[in-house]
Amino acid sequence: MANYRFKNSEKKIRIGKIIGLARTYREHATEMQAEITEDPLLFLKPESAVIFNNETIRIPTMSKNLHHEVELGIVIGKTARHISQKHALDYVLGYVVVLDITARDIQSEAKKNGWPWTIAKGFDTFAPISDVVLKDEISDPNNLDLILTVNNQTKQQSNTKYMVYSVERIIEFVSSVMTLKRGDLIMTGTPSGVGEIVEGDALEARLGNYCVLSVDVRKSMK
Ligand code: MG
Repeated sequence: MANYRFKNSEKKIRIGKIIGLARTYREHATEMQAEITEDPLLFLKPESAVIFNNETIRIPTMSKNLHHEVELGIVIGKTARHISQKHALDYVLGYVVVLDITARDIQSEAKKNGWPWTIAKGFDTFAPISDVVLKDEISDPNNLDLILTVNNQTKQQSNTKYMVYSVERIIEFVSSVMTLKRGDLIMTGTPSGVGEIVEGDALEARLGNYCVLSVDVRKSMK
């Protein structure tokens, strides 16, 4: 089990479950020809998918089409369930920028057949995360720039203010389904501009001036 890495802190906190949200930005839902739902759509990603800054995304042999999705990640600091929006930020430890790497070909097949997204989202290395920035350093998580470049070209650029659900509403909803524990990570979904990554690509994701995450892309050994 891996621990988070922190900017300016020696904290040791284990990475717990990873909850993904889908269709949280209107323009991304449109580009995927999907509809926004009243409550967020959830899926789970295994902790074994996590890699860190300066590590490598591995293209699995089962997929021919990986996509990048840059997202705000919320790291939970205190265990709780049924958290109200009013108190939601009390349960946040900090934030990361995360890449929700997706095998789009496998996901499309799953969508067509009504199957879960577990395989499409769950391969090793499919959850690169930055160092954690503690929440006190960020005045408003609902107004943070998100940017992703691939080989120095900007591919995704947005702001969390365009999310359909606020950070508080997301925490309220997720914690009404499952207990959130210290160390759990919520990936809040991606803005528009998703696209393919291939062997040799270099990705750089940023959350404002707070977090930076650099990873490259190689074929899997197996
Ligand atoms: Mg995503």
